Amino acid sequence: MEPVVAVHGGAGKWRIGPDEEARVRKALSDAVSAGLTALARGNAVDAVVEAVAAMEDSGVFNAGVGSVYTISGRVQMDAGVMDGNGKAGAVASVEDVGNPVRLAKYVLENTEHVLVVGDGARELARAAGLLAPRSRFYDDRKNARFGEMKLEASAGRWHYRKVLELAKALGIGDTVGAVARDKDGNLAAATSTGGVWLKLDGRVGDSPIPGAGFWAENGVAAFSATGVGEAIILSMASFRAALLVKSGMAIDRALEEVVGVVTEKFGSDTIGILGIDKTGRVAAAFNTHAMARGWGSGKEVKRIALWRDEIWP
Ligand code: ASP
Repeated sequence: MEPVVAVHGGAGKWRIGPDEEARVRKALSDAVSAGLTALARGNAVDAVVEAVAAMEDSGVFNAGVGSVYTISGRVQMDAGVMDGNGKAGAVASVEDVGNPVRLAKYVLENTEHVLVVGDGARELARAAGLLAPRSRFYDDRKNARFGEMKLEASAGRWHYRKVLELAKALGIGDTVGAVARDKDGNLAAATSTGGVWLKLDGRVGDSPIPGAGFWAENGVAAFSATGVGEAIILSMASFRAALLVKSGMAIDRALEEVVGVVTEKFGSDTIGILGIDKTGRVAAAFNTHAMARGWGSGKEVKRIALWRDEIWP
């Protein structure tokens, strides 16, 4: 079977200039290449982890060193990975971890747990050699944005309970994710994020929750979601998509259906979702202005797209 990998760099407003757009496209393409290289030697889990790690390292997206800040200016990240054989690993609200997706894989491979948080996650990160200096997560661009965001938020008289409205108003971000099918037909999915700007310290989104921010099921499909975490959790978006595909619906229709359900309940600008089915067909759907996405198979990056009207897949 031809190995296939697809990636996303989040759904949202993407009000960006040409230089930034070029950086996003290059980072997506590099992530697809990293996934394809991993697929040539390894399995679907390796591919999604390498693709997501490349995006975490790029600094271009809201994940890894590019992660956004909480209300108190901390960087707290969530990530999850699932093997189509039914096993998953995830971490939530971790700090000082350069590649949360690698820590999620460590949980998957070295523990019998699904989700690890807090001091325990930090200890695992130390054991796995994944801790990074805190200064790597801060830069002038993000510091400036943090100042602007706080002003925008206070102008809207925001208070803590309105995180969903806040995320929609400030623009949900560029969380990253990947799905893959390897040569043996195994599927995998991974998602990694810094969450949403100005989230409460300790807030956990959909990205480390199996069935919400990611899901993989051999013989069916694999998914990675992005958008307002609260809406995605309450819709169980990835699991919902898997059920639809399992019932016989084509993957592109299933994703449109899931986006429709989320839009009806939570409004537009709330979700983007990427998937691959057992035949290797890639699909994406979103109710935002744009969604950064790309895919490749064999040795070739086939497509990178950002806007709605671009040819896809
Ligand atoms: N889903 C992420 C979260 O709510 C944010 C995003 O996708 O940009 O944590």
